[in-house]
Amino acid sequence: MLDWKDGQPFSSRYGDVYFSTESGLEETRHVFLQGNDLAHRFAMLRAGESFCIGETGFGTGLNFLCAWRLFEQTAPPGANLDFFSTEKFPIDDDELGAALALWPEFAAEARMLLAAWHRRVPGWNRWQFAAGRIRLTVAMEDVAQALPQLPSACVDAWFLDGFSPAKNPEMWSDSLLAAIARASHEGTTLATYTSAGWVRRGLQAVGFEVKRVPGYGRKRQMSSGQFMPAVTVLEEGCVPGRSSPIPTNRGTGRPCSVIVIGGGLAGCAAAHALAQRGIRVTLIERAAQLASAASGNPRGILHARFGAGMNALHRFVLAAYGHALALLDDVMPVDGEQRAECGLLQLAATDAEAKRISKLAVQEWPPHLMQTVDAEQASLLTGMEMSRGGLWFPAGGWVVPPKVCVRLAQHPNITLQLNSEVTGLERSASGWCAKGNGFAIEAEQVVVCSAHQAKKLAPFAAFPLQPVRGQISVLPATAASGKLHAVLCAEGYCAPAQDGRHVAGATSSFDDEATDIRAQDHAENLARLSAHMPALHQALGDAQPVNGRAAVRCSVPGATPLVGEVEAGLYCSLAHGTRGLLTAGLAAEIIAAQVCSQLPPLPQELLTALSPLHRIRNTGKCSA
Ligand code: SAM
Repeated sequence: MLDWKDGQPFSSRYGDVYFSTESGLEETRHVFLQGNDLAHRFAMLRAGESFCIGETGFGTGLNFLCAWRLFEQTAPPGANLDFFSTEKFPIDDDELGAALALWPEFAAEARMLLAAWHRRVPGWNRWQFAAGRIRLTVAMEDVAQALPQLPSACVDAWFLDGFSPAKNPEMWSDSLLAAIARASHEGTTLATYTSAGWVRRGLQAVGFEVKRVPGYGRKRQMSSGQFMPAVTVLEEGCVPGRSSPIPTNRGTGRPCSVIVIGGGLAGCAAAHALAQRGIRVTLIERAAQLASAASGNPRGILHARFGAGMNALHRFVLAAYGHALALLDDVMPVDGEQRAECGLLQLAATDAEAKRISKLAVQEWPPHLMQTVDAEQASLLTGMEMSRGGLWFPAGGWVVPPKVCVRLAQHPNITLQLNSEVTGLERSASGWCAKGNGFAIEAEQVVVCSAHQAKKLAPFAAFPLQPVRGQISVLPATAASGKLHAVLCAEGYCAPAQDGRHVAGATSSFDDEATDIRAQDHAENLARLSAHMPALHQALGDAQPVNGRAAVRCSVPGATPLVGEVEAGLYCSLAHGTRGLLTAGLAAEIIAAQVCSQLPPLPQELLTALSPLHRIRNTGKCSA
């Protein structure tokens, strides 16, 4: 919780201010921006190059907004910024709004940050601003947990900002400083308002040259430094010189061209993420239009389901849920026609479900993410009488997935190649060549997003990709069923009526690739409604499905998608199962970051859990 003292944000937990009471803005500029020589270093970047700032405490985001503004003012077009921060005690939406209202000159950026902040989830969050030029990654967890999960040598400049070392020594511990050093490369700089001798010595011990420089306002001194791993301990009072300009760790390593195979959600999201990074993308789809397979249903449900143990898959789904909501806010804002944020109830329809939900509820979840509700609350929230409660997701809802695909693919850097089935993928002089009947397209790198069809391409033949047929049923609404105003999920789901129709689903038939509409699948969908949502089933009367759609999703044993590099220059985003609407966007972000050697959006342990290299090539089987 954010407290206030003399009109400024204050933390009672730590007994310290979030920023200088004289002028937080000027303090940030002096300590962190100038202390890291950022104006100069941003100006030295080349098009396509990324710069990465690491911060230890996000707080109100003021440092982030200042860095964003400076980057826009000084970096050349085409350069981009990663800002990584951690926050153990995220403040709520209103508190953030009130804190940032102190800086009217940042009103526009603050509005965008607030919109993203509303989508925050525990763990890592990745948001984009300024058409993807500015990427913010906030790990909502203890800094000691987050920093060791960064790739080594990924940070170019550090903002050490975690309250005063006397009041929050955990933020300045030896192990944390070692993690900071591990994520630094030669030339990485740091700046902090503290001039405490023991902090300086700790930083020196892990390889930073550190000097005391004039502080801001009444603070006589602060510290700044540079990572010089060969130099370990400097004598007290020794002022190291700084070579200027200080390089970033990355060249313009991104490729000019990438082929993405598959025009469903995974492929469109990958194409979008790459195109936003300035890469020319050819998006190849075998059908005559995008979203012709599993992403083609008229409604997709934003449904995140977690186990009480929150294993790697669930942690990925959690991060993906927050990411998907923010991505949709960009490409398909809520309009009630193509996207509705009506809320979603996961019914405690069986005793096993009730147990899962109550175990999950023991962990404290932010109420904007999910809340446990009883039958009475559930009835009020959904508009349908419920005999049981469940888990309420206020931001849950539905979208029209084919429209999402089209929006994602609408980018000047994306060229669509429809009606083109890739039947061969081979290395070529320029990198890779995707061949099919009457075409051969070359690019430096390639991302395969063609679900179970990927098995036809040589490197994926050994992947245990499984087709899973699913059929939805379109049901005519009645006056009574029209009262449903939230998505209901148990073993199946039903969305509120739109244009007089509900969409209910979905069946699951493993190793079945047929897409015919089956009466028995309709019956199965209705039977699930009857078993778990009796009031809704009754409200629907005798109505029979007026339509349906069957499509084939792709899964793997264990259900964790396969996302990342397969071999040099070859990536995949596969096996999203029924969750593609949630997971495709974050998977795309993972791949785009790998392709461009940028900061990944997830901790290393989750990247490993998703990695095809780790799960298939190294073990010979697809571990869960
Ligand atoms: N950079 C901030 C800004 O621009 O507003 C101010 C940061 S404030 C001085 C320090 C932040 O560190 C607080 O938001 C606090 O909750 C967070 N923090 C403290 N201990 C932490 C820990 N162990 N892990 C992660 N965050 C922590």
